[in-house]
This record gives sequence, C-alpha cells and structure tokens, in this order.
Amino acid sequence: MKEKVKNKVKQEKKINVENGKKEKKEDNKEKEHSSPERAVKKEKNTEEEGGSAKKKPISSFFAPRKAAVKLEKEERNEGEKKKDGEISDAAEQKEKKSEKGVDSAVQSQYDPSRAHYHPVDHACWRKGQKVPYLAVARTFEKIEEDSGRLKNIETLSNFLRSVILLSPDDLLCCVYLCLNQLGPAYQGLELGIGETVLMKAVAQATGRQLDKIKAEAQEKGDLGLVAESSRSNQRMMFAPANLTAGGVFNKLKEIANMSGNSVSTNKIDIIKGLFVACRFSEARYIVRSLAGKLRIGLAEQSVLTALSQAVCLSPPGQEFPPAVLNAGKGMMCVSMPNYDAIIPVLMKEGIDELPNHCKLTPGVPLRPMLAHPTKGVGEVMKRFDEAAFTCEYKYDGERAQIHILENGELRIFSRNQEDNTSKYPDIISRIPQVKKENVRSCVLDSEAVAWDREKKQIQAFQVLTTRKRKDVDASEIKVQVCVYAFDLLYLNGASLVREPLSKRRALLRESFEEKEGEFVFARSLDSDNTESIAEFLEQSVRDSCEGLMVKTLEKHATYEIAKRSHNWLKLKKDYLEGVGDTVDLCVIGAYLGKGKRAGSYGGFLLACYDEENEEFQSVCKIGTGFKDEDLEQHYNFLKEHILPKPRPYYRVDQSAEPDVWLEAVQVWEVKCADLSLSPVYKAAMGLVDPEKGISLRFPRYLRIRDDKKPEDATTGSQDRVCVMLTYQQTVSNTP
Ligand code: ATP
Repeated sequence: MKEKVKNKVKQEKKINVENGKKEKKEDNKEKEHSSPERAVKKEKNTEEEGGSAKKKPISSFFAPRKAAVKLEKEERNEGEKKKDGEISDAAEQKEKKSEKGVDSAVQSQYDPSRAHYHPVDHACWRKGQKVPYLAVARTFEKIEEDSGRLKNIETLSNFLRSVILLSPDDLLCCVYLCLNQLGPAYQGLELGIGETVLMKAVAQATGRQLDKIKAEAQEKGDLGLVAESSRSNQRMMFAPANLTAGGVFNKLKEIANMSGNSVSTNKIDIIKGLFVACRFSEARYIVRSLAGKLRIGLAEQSVLTALSQAVCLSPPGQEFPPAVLNAGKGMMCVSMPNYDAIIPVLMKEGIDELPNHCKLTPGVPLRPMLAHPTKGVGEVMKRFDEAAFTCEYKYDGERAQIHILENGELRIFSRNQEDNTSKYPDIISRIPQVKKENVRSCVLDSEAVAWDREKKQIQAFQVLTTRKRKDVDASEIKVQVCVYAFDLLYLNGASLVREPLSKRRALLRESFEEKEGEFVFARSLDSDNTESIAEFLEQSVRDSCEGLMVKTLEKHATYEIAKRSHNWLKLKKDYLEGVGDTVDLCVIGAYLGKGKRAGSYGGFLLACYDEENEEFQSVCKIGTGFKDEDLEQHYNFLKEHILPKPRPYYRVDQSAEPDVWLEAVQVWEVKCADLSLSPVYKAAMGLVDPEKGISLRFPRYLRIRDDKKPEDATTGSQDRVCVMLTYQQTVSNTP
C-alpha cells in the first residue's frame, strides 16, 4: 500500500518537474486569460490562423476550446479528402464547432447587469438549450463587482428571467447555485470540502505543484481566484463539453452524497473533471461553491427577491416567443424553506397560487417568529395600547420546533431550521407521553432549557452548550433538558398560524399535559397592570430566566413566520437596569496582540449586519472578556479565515482598520455597558445621525453564538442597537 503511494508521489513529482519547465514559457500566455475580452480575441485569431494552431501546445486548461480548434482543423483536413456527400457532413460539423466557438465568445461577454436588459435577446444561450454555467459565473462576477444591493437583485433577476423564458427546467438548479445550497437546509446536505482536498484537485487538474497553489492561495486569500488563473499543462485528446448549470449542480450533489473508503480520491476525480471543462471565471465559482462560500455577498433574502421579481416580470409558462417580458414587479412571501417545492409551483401555477400549494407541513421546519426589543414596561404599555397581551417567561435555552409528522415520526428543528432530532433523543421519547390521544400531527414552538433534576431548577445556558450536538445516546445524557412550550402552529392537518395566540395557546394547553422537569407550558401572566408586570419580570429573573416575552393575544396576534414582529416584544432585565445588554456581533477583523498576547490576536473588530444594504457595519473594537483559552481558540479558528482585503460589503472607517481582515463567519455575544454615537463606526449611520454611527462602549466578550449565522448578527438599523440608543438617549452624552 505504502509502496503504491510512494510510486504515485514519484510519478506526480516527475510530472510536476516537467510541467514546471513549461510553466515559465506559459506565463506570458497566462495573462491573456485574465481578461475575457482578450481571451475571446485570442480565440478568434486562433481560428483564423489556420494550420499554425497545430504547432501550438494544447495548453490552456481553463480554455480547453483550443483543443477543440486543433481537433477541428485535423477533422477539416480529413473532411477535404472525403467524397462529395461527406463533405457536406464535415461542413455541418464545422458550422457546429464554430458555433460553439461563437457561443463561448458570446457567453464570456454575457452581462445581466446591463441597462435595459432583454431576457431573450441579451441572453447568451438560446431557447431550449441548457443554461451554460458560464452564464451563472458571469452573473456572479457582475454581482461581485457591484456592492449595491438593489443593483445586484436586478442583475440576478435579469439572469433568472432568461432562465424562466429559455430554459425553465433549469430554474431550480440555478437558484440553488445562487444560494450555494444543494437542497433545503433541514436535509443537511453539506458541500464544504476541506481546503486541502480542493487544493490537491486544483494542483492535479492544472499540473501545478501543490506548494505553489498553497502559497498563491495564502497570498490571494481565495483559492477560487487561484484556480481561475491557474492553467493546465496537460494535453487532452478531446475537448470536454462546456459546463451547464444543471451539470455542475448535479456534480456538486454527487460530491456531497459521497461516502465510503476512497471518498477523497473520488471527490478529487469529480472536481478535476469539472475543472478541465472550466472557461473564464467558472473555476473561481466552482471552487468557492465547493468550499462552501460564494463570497459575492448575496443573502438568501436577495435571491428570493430576485426570484419573485423575475417571475413577475417574465411570467413562466408562456408560448415562445413570450408575449410578456416586462410585467409589473411583485413580491412573494414563502413559508416553506424548500425550493424543490416552491419552484415547480411557481413555474406551473404562478406566483399567486404559491400559498395554496406550499403549505405548512410537519417535517418541514418553518422560520421562527422573532421579537423586538423594548426598553421597559412603559414602552410595552404604549405599544400595545388597548390590545390584550400576555407576558411569558423568556427562557434561556435553545429554540426547539417540535414536529409530529402525520406518520407519527418526530423531528426537532433549531432556530435556523437545522435538524436537531438526534441531539434530543430524550425529548423525542417523552413527547408521546405528554401529548393527548387526539393529537395525530402538530408543530410546537418551544425552548429547550438545561434542567437540574436534583435541585429541580433551571440551569444556565452555558450548561446546555456542553451537551453533544449530534447522535446523542439517550443513556449517556448528562445535561438534562426541560421543554418549555409556548406556541402551537399546526394541529391535526390544519395550520394555526393565522389564528390569534389566544386560540393557539388554548389548543396547546388542551393538546398536551405538563410533566415536571420534562414538558411544561411557558409560565405566563395576562395582566395590563404595570406593577404586576414589573413584579413578574423580577420573578422571571429570580427563576433563572432572561426576562419576559410580551405577546398580543387577540388582535394582530397571528404567528408571523420568519418575521421580527412588533407583536412580540422582549423585555430583558438588562434593558431595565441600564447596566448593558448583550448583542450578537460578527467578527470581521483582528488586531495583532502585544505583550502577553504577542503571537496571537489581542483584539477584534466587530460588526453588526445591516439587512437593508446587506453589509457588515463596524460597531466596536473588543479586547476584554477573553480567557486565555478563548483567545487561543479564536486565533486557531480565525486564522483559517483571513482575507487579503476587506469584502466590498464591509463598512469600516480607515481609522479602525484591523491588522488582519477576516471572513464574516462567526457570531459572538457581547455585553456592552452603553452606546454612543461615533464618527468612526458605521452601524446605523444615517438613522440616528447623518454622519455618525453607533458604537458600543466597554464591550465585553461573552461567548460564541454557534446557532446564529453572520447575517443573524444584530442588525444596525432595526434591532437592539438602534432601539437601545434611542431609549438610553445617549445622543446627548456623546463626546
Ligand atoms: P433573536 O432570536 O430574536 O434574533 P436571540 O437569539 O439573541 O435573538 P433573544 O432575542 O434573546 O434571542 O430572544 C428570542 C428567543 O427567546 C427566541 O428565539 C426563543 O428561542 C427564546 N424564548 C424563550 N422563551 C420564549 C417565549 N416564551 N416565547 C418566545 N421565545 C422564547
């Protein structure tokens, strides 16, 4: 076995030495490929140059069409020798081949961001053809070049309009490619391939040395760009077919589904197969897709908006040529996070029929309703005015959406729709005991909280985080949990989300029975007396809760899927005392440590996420609250996410620039004593002050929030940061 490996290494070394010799020669030519325009020109010339093309090495990996040209010339000579009847065949062949050349040229210039985009005339493929992957890559390029959210939505929408009208069957895979997902999140199909495997694949596919690829990737901070600019020295007999969106998507799925012994070698083989067919920027986006990050700053909400605009502007299902190319814009609201279900309905039935077909279904998680922060009981009273409301304990654990499927199976989903079923076998086994007989199917909203069975009391959130995350064996559970149920969204075949909370709560209480320390209804108080509410809040904190959730009961009391709603207000003890609240922020940079912290990071730049502009806005530097092990852990994790330069969607003032830019991949919970307005920080700039943003004063690190994505980091414009600032009226205290 070892011998085999050695031989392989030897062989590879040999190839690399040979290739190394060629590498220099190829350098000048490489530049031609950095610009699509030049590459197209080059291609045309090659075709016109006739026989001279034969003498050139078939060298470009990411422009393998040269090989096609060479073969074509050979075939042409052959064809000329043939009889009359066969000549017409050859001529036809020739036409096809040169058409392919033209396609390549046209596709490399495809620009869905152009003004007055026409979804048929400006597309780079024809009706009935499969969507070329190059069209997807060009769309990504255009989006990457421009950081304006609205412009990017328009660009994507233009591309999707062409897909709808010319190749409707490809819409689903194109949407998934834009989302960089292989299916609905709750199915858990993961793409992220280790960097080492990817680098090996790039090296093998291009004939370059692994070390060189590594060094260049380090320097550029993006293996995608390295793959794009790398080139092959390997000869190919046949030019591979151009990549299609569907073809790439299927290969990605194939890779994600692989398991078994030689999985890594098999993955490399598939990746190599993709690389050899790459043209222009295709390699960049294939590598990034495989690595799990497209890095174009396109959030799912934007993809959804672009899709709904595309469907409205260019309605699907029309005869060709389409009569309607530019209808009015519209929006869709989707409660089912599964494009496999949404897109076929969109294409067949149209946008208006979507709610009738994509219904809430046990087994498919829904995005949870979220709450708005409030600063005190007074504000609650003002906001809810005359409306009836209830106050519930706000438990500090992990959100658990518990589904009983029609077939009796159970599933538990997290706040982010991840499947947590195997994390909580204890909850799964107790649900049949606490549900009443009449319950066949349902969706419960609840909080799973760490519970001390001996002391019969709630434990801190930190205790819950020590629990294993997957494939937990019920007999080995050390951290027990109690489920605090607070909502019922579906019962026996009927969705309840349009019903008021009073009814949902009554049904919840009728359908389940409590069991101490295992399954309990969230403690609540229905009162509009300010003093009783304040007292209840105090009590909640004494009972180890974070504060209260205050919810409308009758009017405006539906369950608003995926919304941060004003019908749910969170009232935390922290807000009241003014001793500081916690906010969840994303790390986007680091400062090199000095003294005791030399050799690692001493401080970090944090940002909040602005949904409106889809950008990360700097909010503070942080250097306190870290234990030595925290710093070590952060250093080891974050050094893998260093960027050579900030992303176009980072808003940071020059004076706060960090020593090291980091990819926005991790969210931290941070406690702050106060907020201030600052000309340096960019959060919520323009909202409270035209030129100043909001900054945190004396931020203290608390913990990593694994359950939040970077886009879930506290929003600058709508969430706590702004609300807190307004209420604390620190504006007047600002230096
Ligand atoms: P958010 O989820 O709002 O973005 P977050 O994760 O920091 O922010 P909080 O704002 O502190 O959480 O509170 C909302 C969370 O509180 C809910 O997602 C849920 O997990 C939890 N929670 C606890 N008790 C309740 C309750 N009675 N009703 C609703 N949610 C509750």
